[in-house]
Amino acid sequence: MGLPLGGYLLGLALHKGEFNPIVDGWFGTLTQLIPAAVCWMAVYRTRFRHIHVLLAALAMTSYALGNTYYVLTLAGSLALPFPSPADIGYLGFYPLMLGTLFVLGRFQVWDRSWSMVLEGAVGSLGAAAVLAVLLGPVLALDSTGPPSLATAVAVAYPLFDLLLVAAIFGIAASQSLMVGRFGAVLAIGLVIFAAADVIYAQRVTSGLYAIGTPLDAGWSIGLTLVAVWIDRSVRADTAVKPAGLRVTAFAVSGVSTVAGLGVLVLGTQVRVSMLALILAGLVLILAAIRAQLAFRQLVRMSDLHRQSRTDDLTGLPNRRALYSDVPGLLAAGQAGRSALLLLDLDRFKEVNDSLGHDIGDRLLAEVGRRLSQQLRTDDLLARIGGDEFAIFLDNTDQDQAVAVALKLRAALAEPVTLEGIALQTDVSIGIALAPDHGGDVGLLLRRADMAMYKAKFARSGHHVYARADDSRGEERLRTLEELRIALVTDQLILHYQPKIDLATGDVNAVEALVRWKHPGRGLLYPDTFLPLAEEAGLMHDLTNVVLGKALDQAAAWRAHNQPLTVAVNFSASSLINADLPARISAMLVDRGLPPTALTLEITEEFLMADFPRARVILSLLRGSGIQISVDDFGTGYSSLAYLRDLPIDELKLDKSFVMPMADDPRAAALVASTIVLAHSLGLRMVAEGVESEAVYNALARSGCDQAQGYYMSRPIPATELDRWLANHRTVAATGLAL
Ligand code: C2E
Ligand code: CA
Ligand code: CA
Repeated sequence: MGLPLGGYLLGLALHKGEFNPIVDGWFGTLTQLIPAAVCWMAVYRTRFRHIHVLLAALAMTSYALGNTYYVLTLAGSLALPFPSPADIGYLGFYPLMLGTLFVLGRFQVWDRSWSMVLEGAVGSLGAAAVLAVLLGPVLALDSTGPPSLATAVAVAYPLFDLLLVAAIFGIAASQSLMVGRFGAVLAIGLVIFAAADVIYAQRVTSGLYAIGTPLDAGWSIGLTLVAVWIDRSVRADTAVKPAGLRVTAFAVSGVSTVAGLGVLVLGTQVRVSMLALILAGLVLILAAIRAQLAFRQLVRMSDLHRQSRTDDLTGLPNRRALYSDVPGLLAAGQAGRSALLLLDLDRFKEVNDSLGHDIGDRLLAEVGRRLSQQLRTDDLLARIGGDEFAIFLDNTDQDQAVAVALKLRAALAEPVTLEGIALQTDVSIGIALAPDHGGDVGLLLRRADMAMYKAKFARSGHHVYARADDSRGEERLRTLEELRIALVTDQLILHYQPKIDLATGDVNAVEALVRWKHPGRGLLYPDTFLPLAEEAGLMHDLTNVVLGKALDQAAAWRAHNQPLTVAVNFSASSLINADLPARISAMLVDRGLPPTALTLEITEEFLMADFPRARVILSLLRGSGIQISVDDFGTGYSSLAYLRDLPIDELKLDKSFVMPMADDPRAAALVASTIVLAHSLGLRMVAEGVESEAVYNALARSGCDQAQGYYMSRPIPATELDRWLANHRTVAATGLAL
């Protein structure tokens, strides 16, 4: 295709005016017939299975044949009437090409959320409005005469162009996932084609058109690009969505809105056709509706978020709320002391088993009521599990915490009468103090829990945590020593879990998860040693080891033509180093890796702990091209406003939201709105903890970008992942599920 096209362009640049049999005849026709032939080869290659490929081939053939007729007539120096049979061929192109675009775009109209459909409509109408302005003179001229076949045909061209451009921009703005990696080639090809049409129409209208100018090559270039797209997308077989597409889509609808506004402003200065004004008006109305709906979604989202933080039974905050609020309270009370109390009812299981869940539930509700009566308004009371309550007391020392515990026990000592039965509820309370026993919720809860067991065991009612309660204290020390050794003797290994692109089924990224090949205890999972590493200040070294290994592996994959992006988890403590961005860049350069090969997974905790600092570090990292992902999204409480201001690319929705999706419509609704929210902030959404096909499909339907979970694959060693990927590819190629 390239050779004749090059020849044609050269010929057009050299010769002037006059019809030239070689340039306008041979090259002019060949540069359209060959792309049509390329399309037919693609049709043959796909065994007529892809209707859009067939439609495109027919469209190209129709146009090329029309043009051949036109050229042959000119070559024979015959007068060409208007309309002529050539116009049949030319005009045939448009409906067939629109058919191709319809087949490509239709998936998303059914499946995508309203926001994307609106986005598409805004894109479409904006483009149409601009074109309507450009085509104003052409349309106006033809509508004045009496209706005839000639006028109808003449008007058909610009109207078809309008539809074509509207369809392309509509698909681009609503980000047709089906157009795939080479979608831009198709879009550019068709836009060039339509542009040639528009310029041609303007020249003909003003009597300036002459054959044999570079304009004539416009159609050939457009058709060649369409053929390139068909050929490429058929060869690639699966359509891959580039990461940048989301941003492009945003830009398209944004630009369209501005274009609509521009057309209206223009309309106040010069005469602009009614059609253009109507289209531009519609663009602005739709854009306004879109903004309004997005706002409502945000409100609904925060409502759902509140619901997800509340325990239904007691109306108290739940575990999630405790985890998200306490860090802020701890940070706020920096210098002061505070206490975390963990309450567990004694023999509650007996009540539940002998008197039934209904009575059990009512008892819990009553306990919740009594507890809250004893507390100050700024104490935080949460129900964190079956019969477990946690209380965070700000500005409280040990004596005060014990006093509160006594008061609470007294309040519960009074029997609760339900259905004529007086129930005696005893409670065991464990107390952990900050900062003495820990500086974060997780550790405080663990220690309060140990203290609570001690209290329960000793039937003492309450107990304040002491180091000695850490029954595994000695073992901890030994493990810590071993961990120090493990870090320098290569005992840490990485497993990788694939992130699947939901739109295409492709895998372009994996998450690296650390494991410890312990010489005596076998393979240890992170939950057994990361808290220890964190406490002992080893996190910085551990992250370095993990990062090095992950990047080595990424380089190995790249060398085998398998460019996977690796995601590495960074704890808050390993991120605070100011030299981190420079160090990571150096590590990438050492291995000849582009920055896009790495994603950092950070937690909301890090974002919230020191927002301005997080922002600076993340900006540096992201500025260098590394992607930033917010892990366990939803468990903390990063406010939506914060997210908008942060340099991040991706949200990883926590598994606690994803797992219940299959059988809890409320959870599914929350996830769906979170996805919409993420997209409206221009962020990619990844769901983790996908354990079933039902959840996988629900996520795909909601427009989630990527999914990770046991349903697809557990985290596995790199060699196993290679096998998994090969298998995954064959399965995908044969069109089976996943
Ligand atoms: P995470 O970052 O949230 O990682 C995902 C965890 O969810 C992994 O547990 C993974 O095995 C698990 N998971 C994946 N799919 C499913 C699923 O379908 N169902 C269920 N139930 N779980 C699933 P893992 O490997 O035990 O890691 C636990 C946590 O340890 C990670 O949570 C991360 O916070 C931390 N971690 C792991 N490796 C590193 C590391 O190299 N550095 C740091 N700082 N933290 C790490
Ligand atoms: Ca992670
Ligand atoms: Ca996670």
